[in-house]
Amino acid sequence: MALAHLPKRKFDVVIVGAGGSGMRASLQLARAGLNVAVLSKVFPTRSHTVAAQGGIGASLGNMSEDNWHFHFYDTVKGSDWLGDQDAIEFMCREAPKVVYELEHFGMPFDRNPDGTIYQRPFGGHTANYGEKPVQRACAAADRTGHAMLHTLYQQNVKARTNFFVEWMALDLIRDSEGDVLGVTALEMETGEVHVLQAKCTLFATGGAGRIYAASTNAFINTGDGLGMAARAGVPLQDMEFWQFHPTGVHNAGVLLTEGCRGEGAILRNANGERFMERYAPTLKDLAPRDFVSRCMDQEIKEGRGCGPNKDYINLDMTHLGGETILKRLPSVYEIGHNFANVDITKEPIPVVPTIHYQMGGIPTNIHGQVVVPKDGTPNAVVNGFYAVGECSCVSVHGANRLGTNSLLDLLVFGRAAGNHIVASALASRNHKDLPADAADRSLERLARLEASTSGEYAQDVANDIRKSMQQHAGVFRTQAVMDEGVVQIAAIAERVKHIGLKDKSKVFNTARIEALEVDNLIEAAQATIVSAAARHESRGAHTVNDYGDTPQHPNGRNDEEWLKHTLWFSEGNRLDYKPVNLKPLSVDSVPPKVRSF
Ligand SMILES: Cc1cc2nc3c(=O)[nH]c(=O)nc-3n(C[C@H](O)[C@H](O)[C@H](O)COP(=O)(O)OP(=O)(O)OC[C@H]3O[C@@H](n4cnc5c(N)ncnc54)[C@H](O)[C@@H]3O)c2cc1C
Repeated sequence: MALAHLPKRKFDVVIVGAGGSGMRASLQLARAGLNVAVLSKVFPTRSHTVAAQGGIGASLGNMSEDNWHFHFYDTVKGSDWLGDQDAIEFMCREAPKVVYELEHFGMPFDRNPDGTIYQRPFGGHTANYGEKPVQRACAAADRTGHAMLHTLYQQNVKARTNFFVEWMALDLIRDSEGDVLGVTALEMETGEVHVLQAKCTLFATGGAGRIYAASTNAFINTGDGLGMAARAGVPLQDMEFWQFHPTGVHNAGVLLTEGCRGEGAILRNANGERFMERYAPTLKDLAPRDFVSRCMDQEIKEGRGCGPNKDYINLDMTHLGGETILKRLPSVYEIGHNFANVDITKEPIPVVPTIHYQMGGIPTNIHGQVVVPKDGTPNAVVNGFYAVGECSCVSVHGANRLGTNSLLDLLVFGRAAGNHIVASALASRNHKDLPADAADRSLERLARLEASTSGEYAQDVANDIRKSMQQHAGVFRTQAVMDEGVVQIAAIAERVKHIGLKDKSKVFNTARIEALEVDNLIEAAQATIVSAAARHESRGAHTVNDYGDTPQHPNGRNDEEWLKHTLWFSEGNRLDYKPVNLKPLSVDSVPPKVRSF
């Protein structure tokens, strides 16, 4: 079926994704009177943001002395200097404003006795530039994301945002000038393909954590935005950097928030030792995640893991007392019962580092505009295309994100992108004409599945991607293991082209949807493994045994050659690089130095 026969709708703005970032952006737009469509594969309040537990980072200073300069410093250092300092300054300065705004939208934060917002300590959050832990994570018990997502949804309903629930965006529409004109989408209920035309298209599709086998992420986190961008010629930035969260429940993957350690929980090895004191004398259990995950792995490797197979670490909260646990960590208490059969008030719970967050994504500037290399400049704006949230790379998290900086990133850049679009006076502009081939890529993908009479199950191929990524792009990497991963993932990419679809029915056909998702998983996996194998140093979450600690390159970080962002292009599986912005907007730069805690 050609373009002319497909149903079409026009909007000022189409947003793909109804998580925290998509709904913060849509709120800004709908309130300004623009005609906004928000697409989501699931009901908005089921987006992965709902699972966020620990908190939102903002230097309110309600419970200990804090200011945005400390937050800025911690974030730059946490990023292992790969974060862009202009974007980090912007985020940290905006933080108190967006948190108070959220409070006024009705967000049910926990309260201090004086009525101010409750804040807990978190990994890598310090006062006085690394001197001591600070209380910066604004929390609603251990259900912060749940409270935030529901608050934003209610505000969007009030502002009359149009939601397209259970609609899956398939591909980005670009014309011959490279301008973005909207998306094609599958209405999951009917199986029908639609064209959604827009003056601006904003991706807020979340992370791709499902490219790994053991993940804290929701099943829908298949990196669709990354896949759509990559297929349309947009590069993906810094995809080698994936965060392992230190405390996923052993054998279940379910997350136990860093808020546990914020409230005082302790990691112990088989000897009962609080081993983090040895590795990070100042921050101990609250060192940043990349660091703690590696220490845990080290303990297990050296034979001090817990349990019959010595393959996990114990997270001990027994000394916190039942009352604190039930007040501050009620979901963690339930998770202990349901996923580990453990009463955390009485015994420690087994944990292992588990994949959690992608630091990389679609490259943007601080207005959320997608930027690509063009005519000699590294950051040329793609007209009509924005990205915010976990699918984007602005880049505030660099090589390692600090806990609570993601929910913050959603609010700050969702709002900023919304404001930028509003300021661009869309109402007075016409829609550009759609090119004749606008829907071809999607229709070809669907036709291939439709025509298949044999071929592998999508799930079998997806599971092999996950197995391979888990093995070849883990907490500790070696050059040989990554190189082997590049070969394996390239081989799986060939298999993706021959996936078969047995059930050809239209209505709510989840098999077709899963097959379409695999097209996105493979782009994210390729980007990750190819970018990782090419980075010959250790930095943040990308730790390679071959590039270890030397006097010239402490911790294996090589700033002379590798203080730069990776750009991966799907076409030709090709890499390019661009400089890191070490210049903040108004303050002095934090120059690179050795990272210790
Ligand atoms: C268990 C867990 C706990 C966390 N805790 C914290 C925390 O305490 N603090 C913190 O700062 N960060 C935390 N994080 C990280 C943070 O929650 C996420 O990075 C963030 O919520 C992602 O938000 P988002 O808006 O980018 O995307 P998401 O909330 O993941 O939403 C993505 C949206 O895109 C839609 N979508 C995707 N593909 C398509 C498609 N093809 N078509 C249509 N719609 C599509 C989905 O339906 C969904 O609506 C946590 C993450 C996890 C997994």
